[in-house]
Amino acid sequence: MSLLVVGSVAFDALESPYGKVERTVGGAATYFAVAASFFAPVSLVGIVGDDFTQEDEKIFRGRHIDTDGLERATGKTFFWAGRYSQNLNERVTLGTELNVFAEFKPRLPEKYRASKYVFLANIAPDLQRDVLQQVKKRPKIAALDTMNYWIERSNAELRETLKHVDILMINDSETRELSNEHNLLRAAKHIFKMGPATLVVKRGEHGAMMVDKRGVFCVPAFPLEEPHDPTGAGDSFAGGFMGYLAGCGNKSDASLRRAMVYGSVLGSFTVEKFGLDRLRHLKRSEIHARARHFVKLTQFKL
Ligand code: AMP
Repeated sequence: MSLLVVGSVAFDALESPYGKVERTVGGAATYFAVAASFFAPVSLVGIVGDDFTQEDEKIFRGRHIDTDGLERATGKTFFWAGRYSQNLNERVTLGTELNVFAEFKPRLPEKYRASKYVFLANIAPDLQRDVLQQVKKRPKIAALDTMNYWIERSNAELRETLKHVDILMINDSETRELSNEHNLLRAAKHIFKMGPATLVVKRGEHGAMMVDKRGVFCVPAFPLEEPHDPTGAGDSFAGGFMGYLAGCGNKSDASLRRAMVYGSVLGSFTVEKFGLDRLRHLKRSEIHARARHFVKLTQFKL
């Protein structure tokens, strides 16, 4: 079933102990769309500048990604630069240039307005709400990602937007900051009062945790001997998670748990290489093989 994503399409400059890339296609919506398109057709809403070439757009071609909602504006594409620490756990942002993103007013093509699954990637909360309002009927699942920047600077707008979403997918520091609670289970209770009935906390190399009224489900991160670049792992997780749910068309507890595993699978592939290099050549058979590996990874007898 149709899965809509709105968020950044970018050029990234990346540095980790494993190497450096001066300029590569990135952006939260890009990682999400590529990851999700293995499971369901994706409709992309975003903006790029006139420096974003046909060659750059190839990342979306040959996949089930509709880019009619990708606006092309005069100017430069959003640019982000980041550097990772030796153990890849810390990241410093070296620069963010909003460029055409600064004036972005998302407009949904008519055919996107019936989307049943919506993912609001990390952008200004009022733009996220604007997108949700353009969807005609309340989606089966609306999920949202955000970051400390918006929690601090647009708290009221974020809280207003959260009233309209089902799943909040953020990392642990964002969870703590949004809820003013150190303990993640207590944080979840605060977040449920804000609107979302499900909280998915992305915890990097510690995996991910889902909390809802039925309880808690945890999935590990896939153990990798040589991770190279964590950029986009969270967005790829979200893509695997939402893509799986849109593909299977239901939101039972069993489906949500499998979605957590497919999220972790897609996130793990992303960090294996720089930027989108690993997802670019990923095959469905590899995804399913790794998902089966997760069964082995977490099985035990009592
Ligand atoms: P992640 O590693 O999941 O945080 O996502 C990294 C991606 O987010 C990169 O490809 C960046 O282009 C994009 N990004 C970084 N900062 C921002 C921002 N402030 N707004 C939107 N996208 C961003």
